[in-house]
Amino acid sequence: MKIQSENFAKAAQKAIADADLQSAVSFGTNLAYTKRKSAVFVSGQDHGEQIRQQAAQIKRHALNNLPQLLEQAEQQMQKNGIKVLWAKDAAEANQKVLEIIQQKQAKKVIKSKSMVSEEIAMNDFLEKNGVQVIESDLGEYIIQISGDHPSHIVVPVVHRTKASIRDTLMQKIGMPHTDDAQTMTHFVRGHLRKEFLEADIGISGGNFIIAESGSLCLATNEGNGRMVTSLPPVHIAVVGIEKVIPTLEDYATLTQMLPRSATGQSMAVYTNIINGPRRKDEEDGPQEVYVVFLDNGRSEIYSSGYTEALACIRCGACLNACPVYRVSGGHSYGWVYPGPIGAVVTPLLVGLNKASPLPNASSLCGSCKQVCPVVIDIPRMLLDLRHDLTKQKKSSKTWKIGMYIWAKSNRSEKWYKMTGRLIKASRYLPISKLPGLLKNWTRFREMPQPAAKSFHDIWQDGLKDEDK
Ligand code: SF4
Repeated sequence: MKIQSENFAKAAQKAIADADLQSAVSFGTNLAYTKRKSAVFVSGQDHGEQIRQQAAQIKRHALNNLPQLLEQAEQQMQKNGIKVLWAKDAAEANQKVLEIIQQKQAKKVIKSKSMVSEEIAMNDFLEKNGVQVIESDLGEYIIQISGDHPSHIVVPVVHRTKASIRDTLMQKIGMPHTDDAQTMTHFVRGHLRKEFLEADIGISGGNFIIAESGSLCLATNEGNGRMVTSLPPVHIAVVGIEKVIPTLEDYATLTQMLPRSATGQSMAVYTNIINGPRRKDEEDGPQEVYVVFLDNGRSEIYSSGYTEALACIRCGACLNACPVYRVSGGHSYGWVYPGPIGAVVTPLLVGLNKASPLPNASSLCGSCKQVCPVVIDIPRMLLDLRHDLTKQKKSSKTWKIGMYIWAKSNRSEKWYKMTGRLIKASRYLPISKLPGLLKNWTRFREMPQPAAKSFHDIWQDGLKDEDK
């Protein structure tokens, strides 16, 4: 996917003007946000907070021991009969996957949902090399046949209304007219069944890798993940190196937190732990399993001040809670990872110069940190990225002038009082729109009337009242 994060402001304005997108994103994010709250705190506020802290500690511990855990995971997987490969970047990962496909003389691969495969643009690469790729997650399939891109890391079609999905399914795969979502799902399921049976290779991502047992863990709701990893004779999983956790016990905690935070379910409908290819006494399962560990910039993040970003379990809760994502939608972020975590990892993975507006695409309200199941301090990282932007002189002219005036007036009592008086005086001027460099501030809203009394005045009045 071409990186278009520099166009964030324009793309967000377009999204704000799109009534269908607004209603679809608002419905999807509100639903997930509300369901998450009931699911995480189902056994009380304290319990919900404790399990969140526990999940956060597990991921921090895993990151602190990442090199050792990766070695342990590789050894255990090899013992289990899994072939482990390493890829330093997208090109290498795609090439390794293609080589396996070519060795097996495969023509058709079926995929379950994987953000990492979006990150490395695997579908495009394989298709350019003559491989037919079929997405089997319902949302991803709709995206694929529409020639679109996911706009959410859990619900790829959150930006689409039911009616627009119906029209796509009717046009692209001949679905008879229906407005019933379940009937649409059944139709697609029937359509995909034959693809599953014909596929030579199944490709998945992975939610977690358990180092002590060398297991690949997948959580899905549609059962497609289980079919992708068990029906074709070969299964390839492409997984980011940050997905490794130490023990099965750790997995027990994380596998509860992920669906609760993502969709408000106490467990995902299908929770798979894959320990290797089919054994002699087993009737089904793939004959070969490959795991490709992908770096693609993660090592650099690991050794930077942003290591915490690698704790993300891709639940999407921060997207659903973010006031910016909720109106701008995922495509505005211009790459694979949208929302608050996207605003952090996109500049880190593709370079700050290609995603400079993203650290500013946040009101820093803190909702993302509040809902994050592994308590990632996204606002702190956004501020640090803004700091990096300033150091690299990437901030816009308006921003620099605004920050200069703000800093000047806050450093000196004289200036502070003077700007306060000026703002108070402007109360009597009929200003509804700001001019020049400040015009964007009031482009979509009226200029609010300044308060008659400043906070200091009110405070002083309160002190005087106390003295009486
Ligand atoms: S940053 Fe936290 S809330 Fe956002 S997707 Fe990652 S784990 Fe979920």
